[in-house]
Amino acid sequence: MAKRDYYEVLGVSKGASEDELKKAYRKLAMKYHPDRNPDNKEAEEKFKEAKEAYETLSDPSKRQAYDQFGHAGVDPNQGMGGAGNFNDIFGNFGDIFGDIFGGGARRQSGPQAYRGADLRYGLEITLEQAAKGYTTEIRIPGYDECTTCHGSGAKPGTEPVTCHTCNGTGQVFMQQGFFRVQQTCHTCHGTGKEIKEPCPVCHGEGRIRKNKTLEVKIPAGIDEGQRIRSSGNGEPGVNGGPPGDLYIEIHLKKHPIFERDGDDLHCEVPLPFATAALGGTLVVPTLDGSAEITIPEGTQTGKTFRLRGKGIKGVRSLETGDLYCHVLIETPVKLTNKQKELLREFQTSVDKDSSKHSPQNKSFMDRVKDLFN
Ligand SMILES: [Zn+2]
Ligand SMILES: [Zn+2]
Repeated sequence: MAKRDYYEVLGVSKGASEDELKKAYRKLAMKYHPDRNPDNKEAEEKFKEAKEAYETLSDPSKRQAYDQFGHAGVDPNQGMGGAGNFNDIFGNFGDIFGDIFGGGARRQSGPQAYRGADLRYGLEITLEQAAKGYTTEIRIPGYDECTTCHGSGAKPGTEPVTCHTCNGTGQVFMQQGFFRVQQTCHTCHGTGKEIKEPCPVCHGEGRIRKNKTLEVKIPAGIDEGQRIRSSGNGEPGVNGGPPGDLYIEIHLKKHPIFERDGDDLHCEVPLPFATAALGGTLVVPTLDGSAEITIPEGTQTGKTFRLRGKGIKGVRSLETGDLYCHVLIETPVKLTNKQKELLREFQTSVDKDSSKHSPQNKSFMDRVKDLFN
């Protein structure tokens, strides 16, 4: 197979600058990197091809030779250190692209510092607490430096020694197929130090568990599932790395009356059927007490009354939400004979002009009639 032109491989012009070459190579390398294309021979070939092209063109003397004599002017195997040596490819790749692939591809000397893990804490609060804001104390797991060994983890009178597995670097290299992979040392867990005689108090950890109490201010308006970040209150870092953060996740207890929908509240209020028919006033609950709503004559069940500004003001909202009261007309139960008599008398009088007094029933019956005729 004829070798493709190096400029063509990278998709750049003959006059491409060093920066353009690097950009083009970076793009191709990201696309065809073996880590992203496992067991893909074609991608592997493309990756090698781009690598070879970039190595030649990024070297001014090689580029000059290539421009003058073409492929005959440069010996790619020289730069490759032998036929298809992937260790080298990976090594250089890490140097050039270390910023993309993170710490894993970077060579480091000495133990690596790790940021502590983030912690999550679920906190259940009431709707009222969420609406008005709430300050509380929570207990979270924490650590204190061990006072017996002063954090070294070694038995008093002894010292930690340099780890024999990694020689104190905290990292070991593993051969995985073609690739050399950097891993945290299993003997010292990345600290670079080995403790021969662990401290009897902390068992070599250098720290002891001590729960700490934290005051948490929950802002007014917070909603289900929202999180508050408490910076630096996660797990401690390793080898001097920064601690993680603590995330307090809010859960709202079910409220006996209100249901929350964003900044709005909803509730169902029973309405006596005589009030529904005659009109009147109805006292409804609100988050901070009660309010009175006017029920117009002839109110039907399910009608919703909106009380502006009686909802919740969300954490980032500009306005307070509304309260929606859904009235449910209550059919009277356990009537006395006298009450039943009054109702029958009432029904007889209504039936005399049912289309006027019960328009919904009239129109429904008309539709039923149409259906069967
Ligand atoms: Zn100790
Ligand atoms: Zn080690």
